[in-house]
Amino acid sequence: MTLEEYREKRNFKKTGEPKDKKRSGNKRPIFVVQKHDASQLHYDLRLEIDGVLKSWAVPKGPSINPNDKRLATETEDHPLKYANFEGKIPKEEYGGGTVMVWDKGTYKNLSVHGDKEISMQEAYKNGHISFELHGKKLRGHWTLAHMKNRGDDWLLIKKEDKHSDGRVNILKEDKSVKSGKSIEEIG
Ligand code: MN
Repeated sequence: MTLEEYREKRNFKKTGEPKDKKRSGNKRPIFVVQKHDASQLHYDLRLEIDGVLKSWAVPKGPSINPNDKRLATETEDHPLKYANFEGKIPKEEYGGGTVMVWDKGTYKNLSVHGDKEISMQEAYKNGHISFELHGKKLRGHWTLAHMKNRGDDWLLIKKEDKHSDGRVNILKEDKSVKSGKSIEEIG
């Protein structure tokens, strides 16, 4: 799903969400997880691939327990600038509700096909992406795996490493990494 779709869904006179497409200027690609208190609370995972933020809505949010497989439904691409968006989308608008920058940082592509290293674009097309997150809350090795015959549904899974933990609920770290605010304070 392209940025066209992102633009079509929004009235930029009414929402403070960013409009422009812009490169991040970072050498390392970025990621963001935005907590989105819309009609259904969810977390949006976005990875910079090919100059846009490829996006997945994760209803239960990420888990650092390697036994958890979290449903991640792909949504429309977002512009890179969206990674800094925190605030309120008017209720009657698309995605209406409060958006918090729950985690943000850079990532490293770890995707392989067989024993060959492949690009994120290729991994995305193959439906199996591996990456190492360098965020404030999320770190280490993760995978996103497209489920066969399930449309836009993928699974987000933490790989076992020194950053995985079966006892910690990472979602309890509940303040914005951008402003330090809670979702209520942003709203
Ligand atoms: Mn959302």
